[in-house]
Amino acid sequence: KAKEAGRNTYVLYAPSMDQSSHERLALENALRKAVEREEWVLHYQPQIDMNTGQIVGVEALIRWKHPVYKLIPPSEFIPLAEETGLIVPIGEWVLKEACLQNKRWQDSGFPKIRIAVNLSTAQFMKKNLYKTVEKVLEETGLEPQYLELEITETMTMDVEKASAILDELSGLGIQISIDDFGTGYSSLNYLKQFSIHRLKIDKSFIRDIISDESNARIVGAIIAMAHHLGLHVIAEGVETREQMSFLKEQKCDEIQGYYYSPPLPAEELKTKYFKSVTV
Ligand code: C2E
Ligand code: MG
Ligand code: MG
Ligand code: MG
Repeated sequence: KAKEAGRNTYVLYAPSMDQSSHERLALENALRKAVEREEWVLHYQPQIDMNTGQIVGVEALIRWKHPVYKLIPPSEFIPLAEETGLIVPIGEWVLKEACLQNKRWQDSGFPKIRIAVNLSTAQFMKKNLYKTVEKVLEETGLEPQYLELEITETMTMDVEKASAILDELSGLGIQISIDDFGTGYSSLNYLKQFSIHRLKIDKSFIRDIISDESNARIVGAIIAMAHHLGLHVIAEGVETREQMSFLKEQKCDEIQGYYYSPPLPAEELKTKYFKSVTV
């Protein structure tokens, strides 16, 4: 399954030193057109509750529906989108589309699940983010508890500012998670005072939990610490049954990864998973 998800990828842009400014400019122009034409599609990756085995959420992950190169993964255009500020309109499109899709699923009678949306630093730092989010919830009719925003540890470095933004967002009734947890510099002390709901343990820790004793201990400690602080924990990048079992033993609340499913187009997710779930 892991191999499947890695197919259809193209090396269009890697932010390397030797990339010519001509290529960069070409990509930037293409990206601007893509923003105008909304050449985006979201894939959705299930998040599974370890106690019930049911899907309790999905993470929305953007792909660029390029007219020539077909589906381009985010690693090839998000860095440039961030550098150019185009990530702001792209991110707003993602937020709205994700909320709309979740509402559509709910309206067709499927069990209500959360939808998680990744935020970039520029979006997080933009004045009145909560107003943008509030407006999208209003326009789409999605109840706030079914939206989750994913931020990263680096966005919380300015503790005062991050605290204020997170308070405003939580005030809307949405959930907040810290993505790629463990790769940044979160101080446990600060975590405690942020209005957040969930930690997503980075896949680099999960990759060798079985073979690397110290990673296994780190993961166990993160879970225990998070629970102690009243936070939920989800492990990302879970690829094998062994990893899943270990995480279950450690009382990890949820898992996400190829072991269960790669990110899927909306239609495929619906036919594959929602049918078998009891409403
Ligand atoms: P992320 O938010 O940490 O998302 C998880 C990434 O891990 C996804 O890659 C997903 O396809 C991949 N993944 C899922 N399960 C497994 C697994 O079992 N093993 C492995 N090795 N990988 C797995 P994807 O879709 O290529 O996205 C990469 C990154 O791009 C995301 O990392 C996120 O940082 C960024 N991204 C994606 N969509 C958006 C978006 O709408 N806005 C922003 N700002 N960033 C986005
Ligand atoms: Mg994420
Ligand atoms: Mg990320
Ligand atoms: Mg992540």
